[in-house]
Amino acid sequence: MTSDSHYDLVVIGAGIIGLATAYTARQRGLRVAVIERHAQCVGASVRNFGFVTVTGQRRGEHWRRALRTRDVWQRIAPQAGIDVIHQGLYVLARRPQAMDVFEAFLRTEMGEGCRLLSVSEAARDLPVLQAGLGVLHSPHERRVESRDAIPRLSRWLAESLGVDFRWNTPVLGISLPQVHTSKGVIHAAHCVVCPGHELDALFPEVIAQAGIRLCTLQMMRVRPAQPVRLPGSIMSDLSLVRYEGYADLPEAAPLKALLQTEQAAHLRDGVHLIAVQSADGSLVVGDSHVYGDAEAPFGRSDIDELITDELHRVLRLPGACITERWTGTYASAGDVVYKARPAPGVAVGIVTGGTGASTSFAFAEELVDLALG
Ligand SMILES: Cc1cc2nc3c(=O)[nH]c(=O)nc-3n(C[C@H](O)[C@H](O)[C@H](O)COP(=O)(O)OP(=O)(O)OC[C@H]3O[C@@H](n4cnc5c(N)ncnc54)[C@H](O)[C@@H]3O)c2cc1C
Repeated sequence: MTSDSHYDLVVIGAGIIGLATAYTARQRGLRVAVIERHAQCVGASVRNFGFVTVTGQRRGEHWRRALRTRDVWQRIAPQAGIDVIHQGLYVLARRPQAMDVFEAFLRTEMGEGCRLLSVSEAARDLPVLQAGLGVLHSPHERRVESRDAIPRLSRWLAESLGVDFRWNTPVLGISLPQVHTSKGVIHAAHCVVCPGHELDALFPEVIAQAGIRLCTLQMMRVRPAQPVRLPGSIMSDLSLVRYEGYADLPEAAPLKALLQTEQAAHLRDGVHLIAVQSADGSLVVGDSHVYGDAEAPFGRSDIDELITDELHRVLRLPGACITERWTGTYASAGDVVYKARPAPGVAVGIVTGGTGASTSFAFAEELVDLALG
């Protein structure tokens, strides 16, 4: 690295928030570099479901961020060679209280475009769906295979949009116009720090004010014994008390109380169901939420059992087997995003609601404004 590297804006972190920030800055005509500690993105951004979710996001600003982000994904995916594997969402209600949440949700502005399907209507789209009372269908969601999509997005930013990438390069400190890295100094007029859950490397004393805890999730890949096609992502009653767009509705309280008695173990470990499909027919299934001051280093088999228990309550998949297991960690706080301006020209941005794939591009616009402002 030469000491005369000079950029309008340097992004720290090549996860989805950093990549979305680099994209936004290039759209504004800035000369941009992304600096990443690792040889490739290995964090939450490649471990997630690739589920670009609108329906269920916190009502108001965050829900609008998700709509905007979905639109950007939709526009750039073909340019970047990223496949959108399926679209839309099916939430199966197995309890009358869940149906009440659907009806309340459909009366809000967030319900626009969504509709209630009868079980027989849903069965036409999704023959493997278990018996239930009804299905909420949303057309808004998209699904990408994150482990492929993130490297493709980086490559496209580099090759087609002229973003410089510095891999294997931890950033040690920022004092603009100097960005100090393990491999020397880069000069930048502005800087956006997108550290994910690595909270102690840059501006730790500022980030500490956000009250962030770490949330570790368990995930798995499931191979059905018979070919199955999911036309969209799948969720269930448990998701309605987790995703704030539903859970914050007063009508969700009776469902929550019932689940406390009927599925207390699931709620204790933050287990709910998301099932999405990959191009080879396998399903990515999760997840759980264990909170602490550090990443949970060990996956728990009882949590995997709770996840597969919910999977089988919702989808008929006899003989399916688990072919892969992994964990992922994100920074979590009461608010769904954290942004700060610790020094002139520097912004720090972390999605603290576990929804970075769904809200990244809109959030990135806020971060670039903050750094330039
Ligand atoms: C298992 C799991 C499933 C999820 N599913 C979904 C989903 O389906 N949909 C959704 O919307 N959200 C989902 N999320 C949340 C989403 O993945 C995250 O919100 C998002 O990936 C965060 O992106 P990021 O860029 O902030 O963090 P990361 O992906 O962690 O990237 C941060 C990067 O910054 C780098 N970095 C940090 N400090 C430095 C430094 N000093 N120098 C150089 N580099 C540095 C790190 O090495 C890292 O690569 C999920 C999260 C997990 C863990």
